[in-house]
Amino acid sequence: MPTEVDVAIVGGGPSGAATAHYLATRGYSVLVAEKKSFPREKTCGDGLTPRAVKQLELMGLGDELAQWTSVKGLRIYSNEQSMELPFPDLHDWPAYGAIKPRADLDSIVLSHAERSGAKVLFHTQAIAPTFDAGVCNGFIAKREGETEEVRARYVVCSEGAATKFSRALGRERDTSYPMGLAIRQYFDSPVGSSDWFEAFLTVRSRNDALPAYGWVFPVSEGVVNAGVGLLSTYGRWREVNLHELQHDFITSLPAEWNITAETVRSKPRAGRLFMGGSVQPVVGPGFLMTGDAAGFINPCNGEGIAYAYETGRMAGKHIDGALREGSPAIVNSYSRELHDTYGAYYRLGRRFVRVIGHPALMEKLVSIGMRSRKLMNFTLTLLANLEDSKGKTYDQVAFKFMKKLAEIKP
Ligand SMILES: Cc1cc2nc3c(=O)[nH]c(=O)nc-3n(C[C@H](O)[C@H](O)[C@H](O)COP(=O)(O)OP(=O)(O)OC[C@H]3O[C@@H](n4cnc5c(N)ncnc54)[C@H](O)[C@@H]3O)c2cc1C
Repeated sequence: MPTEVDVAIVGGGPSGAATAHYLATRGYSVLVAEKKSFPREKTCGDGLTPRAVKQLELMGLGDELAQWTSVKGLRIYSNEQSMELPFPDLHDWPAYGAIKPRADLDSIVLSHAERSGAKVLFHTQAIAPTFDAGVCNGFIAKREGETEEVRARYVVCSEGAATKFSRALGRERDTSYPMGLAIRQYFDSPVGSSDWFEAFLTVRSRNDALPAYGWVFPVSEGVVNAGVGLLSTYGRWREVNLHELQHDFITSLPAEWNITAETVRSKPRAGRLFMGGSVQPVVGPGFLMTGDAAGFINPCNGEGIAYAYETGRMAGKHIDGALREGSPAIVNSYSRELHDTYGAYYRLGRRFVRVIGHPALMEKLVSIGMRSRKLMNFTLTLLANLEDSKGKTYDQVAFKFMKKLAEIKP
């Protein structure tokens, strides 16, 4: 007998957990199939910007958050210069970020969804969607060598960058959109007690400037997460060896940070970043896609956790609407909300990425920016996508104006 639920979710990462939490708190029967067992390691920088913090607060995890390493902003470095950029004080977003290793973060958020009533099956891999007259009505799952059938009124694909399940739903990525690659490792380092995201804007490989940035994020007292993110979209950078790049980045860090082969805690791990709304379709008969599966990483900074939570919440909202009204067509409004929320910003982001795809130009812009705190504060607001509905400051007005400009097609 197949298991029957209202909503079945593939993947228990940030976007799957957020969808599950939203729907379970509204009384629907929700099943999450997660192929691993939690806590599990996840290749990530572990950085949570104010956008991600806001989503955790909305899920009712404010008390948890209060116990984590909080971050007051970005400390940027370029060619011997540095500048501290606190997160702006805004109406819509908290003025702080946070750091939590994904092994812990994802367990906490998924357990929270479980406590709200979602059923989570670990060690359960969704291997193929099932269809009835062209409408996705569940999936075949594999658990402990056994095959099981799950039937659902809606299936949500939150499988991250894996793509196998989503390809069976017709997933296609527009290869003209930006894509990123990133690599990270943990180290023992005194920088673990910093309360800034340490970000290096000039990253070189064999002396070539790259469309990349490096980070050192303080995970906890004495431990950091250090890595590099690279835009791989442009021809010759597809050839860059990430492991060499990570090695060169680590070697370039200040000696007193003590981030070396001797202080390394974990092997380097790399992953792909699907950015800018590059995947279609995000919704179809009986199914929706969220987070990385929908290609929703911010192309300007490589941040994906906030967008995973946000798209998970939105997917939940539209499924709730469709189930309440008994009208499957209502879920299609998910794609409209994604467009209204991110369309102009991601278009702007794609243009920004085209500029930084020319590293010489990027280096020039960074060196101009490092002379102006005002310009760098604006850049932080822009790259972290911190538009404020009530904001009337210079940064906010300029941000809104640039988004409007991006609406104009070239
Ligand atoms: C090196 C690196 C550094 C990064 N740093 C940051 C950062 O600092 N901050 C930030 O915001 N973002 C960062 N990102 C991006 C971020 O990790 C992702 O955007 C985020 O994890 C997306 O969440 P998700 O829920 O969509 O997918 P995932 O987190 O990938 O979750 C997908 C889940 O689905 C499960 N799964 C997959 N296939 C199946 C299947 N068939 N059946 C059942 N389960 C399945 C997986 O086991 C996994 O648990 C980084 C990415 C990389 C690669």
